[in-house]
Amino acid sequence: MKPILVVNSGSSSLKYQLIDMVTEEVLAHGLLERVSDHGVAFAQMLKEIAAGEPRLEGISPVAVGHRVVHGGTAFSQATVVTDQVLTQIHELASLAPLHNPGNLAGIEAAIAAFPDVPHVAVFDTAFHQSLAPASYTYAIDTAVASKHHIRRYGFHGTSHSYVASRTAEFLGRDLADLKIIVLHLGNGASACAIDCGRSIETSMGMTPLEGLVMGSRSGDLDPAILMYLSRVADYTPDQLDLLLNRESGLVGLTGLNDMRDVSLAATAGDPRSTLALEIYAHRIRHYVGAYFALLGGLDAVVFTAGVGENSADVRARVIVPLAHLGLTLDESRNAVSGGGARKISGEGAAVSVLVIPTNEELEIARQLLDVLEA
Ligand code: AMP
Repeated sequence: MKPILVVNSGSSSLKYQLIDMVTEEVLAHGLLERVSDHGVAFAQMLKEIAAGEPRLEGISPVAVGHRVVHGGTAFSQATVVTDQVLTQIHELASLAPLHNPGNLAGIEAAIAAFPDVPHVAVFDTAFHQSLAPASYTYAIDTAVASKHHIRRYGFHGTSHSYVASRTAEFLGRDLADLKIIVLHLGNGASACAIDCGRSIETSMGMTPLEGLVMGSRSGDLDPAILMYLSRVADYTPDQLDLLLNRESGLVGLTGLNDMRDVSLAATAGDPRSTLALEIYAHRIRHYVGAYFALLGGLDAVVFTAGVGENSADVRARVIVPLAHLGLTLDESRNAVSGGGARKISGEGAAVSVLVIPTNEELEIARQLLDVLEA
């Protein structure tokens, strides 16, 4: 057995998986919420693991992998945690104030609980460090941008990277020969254009706010709206943050932030929910078209995460109007729910449309081993 503990520590939650990397079997998993002290949460997690499965009592991870949201430009791959790395993650907190401090608290608690094993940080931004300057640079005063580290970083990199590899495996092709668009549609959502296994464009930007319509985030909008609201309605930076990160997207459009509820309401005839679904799919199609153009060809469009894996309705709303791009949908394959990786495009289609369940924890554990065994 080679048990690896994968930790995703938020500001008030702790999600974990213990994976045996000999078989890639999940030995234990769980989610602790309303966490105020990450050390206490860790002790609770260890109790849960031992109580859940008698055979796991006394089993200790040989390494711990940590999800870290923002790695800035400092980290382009998974990295063994040292004091210097902890300092860098701390310094990056200004770019990801909602995420990095919780990630850091989790790492510190884990090091206290497992002081003798390696800890590896896996960054959501790392996969997108391959973006070219033309794609990561915002067209603002370069001195301002440089002084404040303003550029596109991109997120969900662990998921995009995992799904791209699985796509190659599923198609029986070499990743180095493929042009892929991954649509990670969860509560947060992002699109990624992947050429030869490298991210060349992605929809999230300096923060996870840019791009697609999400559960509670607006995605793209005219930045002048922020100045306008601050002038005409005295919005403060914190109020704008709340409006765009927590009160927009599906919840702003419909009052509901779960796609299941929005779909049900639309089916029941609620016009706001129908419009929200149309906006949601329209934005995705906008990115698929743009990424097709940037990639200069396309082998596969892949749906993943909560909405992408489960909503046949959203997939149909995205793909059916894109027949002119060679994208087709086999209605009966699309309607099948659950299951693993599957093709939902029509027979003989030029572009494969796939559903591939993401697995960020497994990808973190794999990248951890790559680093430790390198
Ligand atoms: P994730 O962030 O990947 O866990 O995705 C969470 C989101 O997936 C939820 O907020 C739901 O909106 C969505 N979701 C989960 N199951 C379904 C489903 N059966 N149909 C539509 N959306 C779903």
